[in-house]
Amino acid sequence: ADNPAYLSVNNIEVIYDHVILVLKGISLQVPQGKIVALLGANGAGKSTTLKAISTLLKNERGDITKGDIHFRGERVDQLTPNELVKRGLSQVMEGRHCFAHLSVEENLLTGAYTRHLSRSELKAELDKVYHYFPRLRERRQSLAGYTSGGEQQMCAIGRALMARPSMILLDEPSMGIAPQLVEEIFEIVKNLNQQEQVSFLLAEQNTNIALRYADFGYILENGRVVMEGEAQDLASNEDVKEFYLGVS
Ligand code: ATP
Repeated sequence: ADNPAYLSVNNIEVIYDHVILVLKGISLQVPQGKIVALLGANGAGKSTTLKAISTLLKNERGDITKGDIHFRGERVDQLTPNELVKRGLSQVMEGRHCFAHLSVEENLLTGAYTRHLSRSELKAELDKVYHYFPRLRERRQSLAGYTSGGEQQMCAIGRALMARPSMILLDEPSMGIAPQLVEEIFEIVKNLNQQEQVSFLLAEQNTNIALRYADFGYILENGRVVMEGEAQDLASNEDVKEFYLGVS
């Protein structure tokens, strides 16, 4: 109760297949209303951290063997993904996972299944998603499988929004997407953060763009947090520039 952080991850250790120690004591906080970036090279443990929070680790034979996770003051590391969504915490997985054989709009509607909405309420929710993602409105009748990578990423975020989350975990939103669309997606994330007060914890290998949009960042290396700070301080830090921003 003393901890003002909305999401707090406290010293978690994660082991895959009972033997492979991947997270070696990760702690992080996402205060209400903020965008926080999890940064680091391929394999540093970013996705594993997000999956530990969203309880999807269990699907991959991963276990939290130490530490705990609290969301809005409640311990959540033993909940199911559904229970988390009902509490306002949604995850958008790496690789997007829209249903390819459903239309964009049908995909969005699946995101509202934990709520019991009338037709008019559903329509209002869809309109809100389309307000932030005009491209999804244009593509609403298209099968998701025939839309571009960037549009599928938008569809996945839109679907998460249909559950009215207060926080979204976003794994590698830039992956495999044209640079112009990456910028568009980050702009929308910022708009959702500022206008709908949605907090974000996003894992991103593209340090440059992540630090331009985030408030705060954590840098992971080999399953540990090796640096953390305000995004603008990290962006001007010499080590970060040399190792993660490709300039010195
Ligand atoms: P990426 O950008 O590739 O997703 P990451 O920083 O998100 O990188 P993780 O995917 O969390 O890193 O992987 C961290 C480590 O855990 C890697 O060494 C990876 O090989 C290992 N790992 C990931 N998933 C599993 C699994 N299901 N079983 C065993 N080891 C795994």
